[in-house]
Amino acid sequence: MRRFTGSEILVATHNRGKLEEIAHLLEPYGISVSSAADHGLPEPEETGTTFVENARLKAHAAAKATGLPALADDSGIEIEALGGAPGVYTADWAETPEGRDFVMAMEKTHRLLEEAGAPHPRRARFCCTLVLAWPDGHDEVFPGVMEGRIVWPMRGDHGHGYDPIFQPEGHELTFGEMDRWEKNRISHRADAFRKLVAILGPA
Ligand code: IMP
Repeated sequence: MRRFTGSEILVATHNRGKLEEIAHLLEPYGISVSSAADHGLPEPEETGTTFVENARLKAHAAAKATGLPALADDSGIEIEALGGAPGVYTADWAETPEGRDFVMAMEKTHRLLEEAGAPHPRRARFCCTLVLAWPDGHDEVFPGVMEGRIVWPMRGDHGHGYDPIFQPEGHELTFGEMDRWEKNRISHRADAFRKLVAILGPA
């Protein structure tokens, strides 16, 4: 596995919140970050059918356009009784002409599970795949997972997305009920980042 020994990474996102979170995580390693928006890059279309494909697409497009190493992530939830859906289409299930509506997306999830007569526990996993791409075309992939189950009704108003219907394995609270620090410590994203930081700096 190639190590990263540089001091600057382009984070291939236009999302300010994501950029700040990643900047904070990389700061202790002496790595500064800039965003795709800082470099005036367009948002590439996420045409992949897997998290890895989409993260690769974003990371390589940014690295190629700027000559900088670039980090991208793609995430979502896979529900066993729905054959892994919504998966890479997790955000799409929330799309409306007026913007994203995650309550609608969670209601759809519950409705489909009921229609399928899915037994309990309704197993699901949150996935986050990070890809670090170098301008020479090399990349390293860091997959992160949190196993759990879908619950109904929604519980908790912390977090974002599908958090209120996801109860992580080994916990009584949903991601929506957990405080932010606890969720960030155990989440799929934390799992992927632990693997990424292991390759930062000289061996
Ligand atoms: P993307 O990775 O920015 O394309 O977004 C994937 C989608 O997955 C987000 O819009 C959220 O709906 C969902 N998602 C990813 N991680 C989480 C999480 O930790 N909690 C709740 N929803 C999440």
